[in-house]
Amino acid sequence: MKIGVLSIQGGVSEHIHHIEALGHEAIKVKNVYDIKCIDGLILPGGESTAISKILRDTGLENLIKDRINDGMPVWGTCAGMILLAKEIENEDKAHLAVMDIKVRRNAYGSQVDSFSKDEVIEEVSDKAIPLVFIRAPYITGIGEGVRVVHKVDGNVVAVIQKKMLATSFHPELTKNLEFHKYFINMCMKL
Ligand code: GLN
Repeated sequence: MKIGVLSIQGGVSEHIHHIEALGHEAIKVKNVYDIKCIDGLILPGGESTAISKILRDTGLENLIKDRINDGMPVWGTCAGMILLAKEIENEDKAHLAVMDIKVRRNAYGSQVDSFSKDEVIEEVSDKAIPLVFIRAPYITGIGEGVRVVHKVDGNVVAVIQKKMLATSFHPELTKNLEFHKYFINMCMKL
């Protein structure tokens, strides 16, 4: 599989490492030409407003949107999840706006900006996976066709809609490869 990683900012090299560790090819997506050959796309964390501006400036925004609407699998981690959401609390405008979810940015507040938890997500792995949250959003509303994959302390932090996966946390910042395996399996099932 050729898995694209949006390479604007955030945990790009970490995602690339995990894809390659699983024996697949990672493609850095920086401009409209890079998007043509990929079987799936990862939108890493970072700052969603900054990433979104560059997406618009490079013309990648519409192209990515079109490919997602055509069924290309996509996985947004943290800021990537915010980019996918159709609704962002207290903001007028969404970014790619392809997933029927409402998100709250920086939802954990300043005291617990960053934390990690080991939890079992059965459909991903029967062993506990470390979940790393960094100034993370969580999901406060889901539409029809969105399935909750995991909650932490009652808050929705991982969802799937068709071939779109969104997680509040960063599996690329741990040594664990299970979430990347799970997403690549989604890409292989086309
Ligand atoms: N707080 C960032 C945002 O709102 C997301 C943080 C992250 O991706 N780790 O875009």
